[in-house]
Amino acid sequence: MRATCWMGRNTVEVENVPDPRLLNERDAIVRVTSTAICGSDLHLYDGYVPTMKKGDILGHEFMGEVVEVGKGVTNLREGDRVVVPFPIACGACNACAREQYSLCENSNPNARLAEKLFGFPTAGIFGYSHLTGGFAGGQAEYVRVPFADVGPLKIENDLPDEVLLFLTDVFPTGFMGAELCDIQPGDVVAVWGAGPVGQFAAASARLLGAERVIVIDRFEYRLDVAERQGSETLNYERVDGVPEALKELTGGRGPDACIDAVGLEAHFHGPAYAYDRVKQALRQETERPIALREAIMSVRSGGTVSIMGVYGGLMDKFPIGAVMNRGLTIRSGQCHVHRYLRPLLQRIEDGEIDPSFIVTHRMKLSDAPKGYELFKHKQDDCLKVVLSP
Ligand SMILES: [Zn+2]
Ligand SMILES: [Zn+2]
Repeated sequence: MRATCWMGRNTVEVENVPDPRLLNERDAIVRVTSTAICGSDLHLYDGYVPTMKKGDILGHEFMGEVVEVGKGVTNLREGDRVVVPFPIACGACNACAREQYSLCENSNPNARLAEKLFGFPTAGIFGYSHLTGGFAGGQAEYVRVPFADVGPLKIENDLPDEVLLFLTDVFPTGFMGAELCDIQPGDVVAVWGAGPVGQFAAASARLLGAERVIVIDRFEYRLDVAERQGSETLNYERVDGVPEALKELTGGRGPDACIDAVGLEAHFHGPAYAYDRVKQALRQETERPIALREAIMSVRSGGTVSIMGVYGGLMDKFPIGAVMNRGLTIRSGQCHVHRYLRPLLQRIEDGEIDPSFIVTHRMKLSDAPKGYELFKHKQDDCLKVVLSP
């Protein structure tokens, strides 16, 4: 089959690789009909997430048709149309029992590696480095889905792929980011990053009752998308300081909740940015946490900061004094996608949201290298690339 392979920093190639096969009774093989490139794939592409190996198959956002099931999978059959969540979860461990699927204790065969870095292991993820299990990803013609009796959601409507595809990651991730804010009627929510997760965090904050949502980015075309969806916007290159600008927009109090949908490759000018850039380049700090620091300094006293942007390790100059003295709550996590699949599918079917609003580019799988470049450099107003094998 053809698959998108990581070949080194800033290089992906669509290669011929062996077809996946059933390895365990609870596996299924899915023929991919649509797959997307994610902002977090760019962290692999750039080489900021460690433990990638040459030839690894990328992709954790995919859907398709079941073509083969192991005998332990009784809820799916050949021909079923499925959406597959990006974390791999067993459905039975202590974490899964708490519906904390991205923390599954049984799905990451390289748990030891993750344990060294994070203190405890995390779940396996498709196409997302050996730290998360080294599983082959879904930017390919076929993919093996472990614990297929737990993860995939069978689709029984005839909505197009691009309306459903984002249930795999960015819609639930944005939604969880908003849900972690415990939004109350009348709340103001600020979202850093107008990429796909930021767009869904903003849309979800509105679904959950926020009165005002303010989206912060520097790319006007992305802010335009957020505006069309009903958010206010702030271009951080056009203001002196984001916390000051937000204070002004909120009667001096600050937003009730702030969502970081940027993560470890934040961009900014100024001395703090240069400091982080240098330390990151020297591998003394893994993060460039501008957005997170701003979110902490901007949120109202007693408010919540929700971190959905991806971080990999350590950061410097964390404003712990602001967190402690102003009584802030920080919440975070890789999305527990399985938990959100059905409720969010319901919202799509009820017409509350059409997630395809983020799609800007549709390409053939063979054009994946071009898709990565466009997305990385934000050329041609790229917000989301969907690939079809
Ligand atoms: Zn993703
Ligand atoms: Zn589990």
